[in-house]
Amino acid sequence: MRPAVKLQHFRSLAMAVALVLSLPPPAHADVDVSLWDGSRAMAHIEAQLRFTPRSMDMPGHQRTIDYIKAELAKSGLTSVTTQDFVYRGTSKPLALFNIIARLNPENPRRVIVATHYDSIIRAYRDARNPQAAMPGANNSASGVALLLETARVLSASPQPPVGIDLIFFDGEEGPKSLGAGDPDWHPIGSPHFVEHLNDYYPNRKPDKAVDFDMVCKKDILLMPEASSVKAAPAEVKTFWELGAAIAPKAFSSKITYPISDDHTALNEAGIPSFLVIDFEYEPYFNTSQDTFDKCSAESLEAVGRTLLRYLYLP
Ligand SMILES: [Zn+2]
Repeated sequence: MRPAVKLQHFRSLAMAVALVLSLPPPAHADVDVSLWDGSRAMAHIEAQLRFTPRSMDMPGHQRTIDYIKAELAKSGLTSVTTQDFVYRGTSKPLALFNIIARLNPENPRRVIVATHYDSIIRAYRDARNPQAAMPGANNSASGVALLLETARVLSASPQPPVGIDLIFFDGEEGPKSLGAGDPDWHPIGSPHFVEHLNDYYPNRKPDKAVDFDMVCKKDILLMPEASSVKAAPAEVKTFWELGAAIAPKAFSSKITYPISDDHTALNEAGIPSFLVIDFEYEPYFNTSQDTFDKCSAESLEAVGRTLLRYLYLP
């Protein structure tokens, strides 16, 4: 009896193996990337533009925080916390809030998906009116839109193999909320986060991080950014290969000059991190012309669907 049972077991196991081998490989297990909807992401941009200016210390800043939290709650994300702190490097102290939403918090393998939600206080590069408000459709509403739509799809999909921390950083545009318009520009939110990394990762650092900024431009062309290639070469290669398969026109393999952003602090903390950005945004960059009509659902979809594929890699 026993050997027979064993033999029978072996035979059914062999059949199972044969069956598995005859099926196509589950290359991108369990995620339907077509669920990622560019028009929904566009609606998130439109909503944020109603709060402009969204720079620190302005009413629109708080309204943006409230909006992000409300949208995460709508997607059913329950593990959402705010890391709040005061920055005292300015004459008037600034209150900052990093928002952290965790999916599958029990999974020890963590991947950070980041963006920033603060925007600059005025359109300092505007030739006609440098005091005008900057709508910030691309810089910074597009990154927030990307993460919010990703949150919705993830919560409706089977669990990915990694735990994901969506982080909406504050203060990327620096203490004066002028971004590159301030010669002493430096992000504030992401360096604070990495200083307190143990609060979120007491046992094990995140495996990697990807940071998004300026990802909605029509006919987007994403090039690997030099500091990312240096810090996380394998991750950049993988992301760009997945992207080129989904949206060949949106991904170029030509490496561009180094750009500092929130991935910089994450890299300095020893987390292999890369930036996804289309920084070629003239003549609109940080002007009053960074408006909704410069964005497209197709561009957002190219980036969002690539991100989904990337998060479901084994
Ligand atoms: Zn930005």
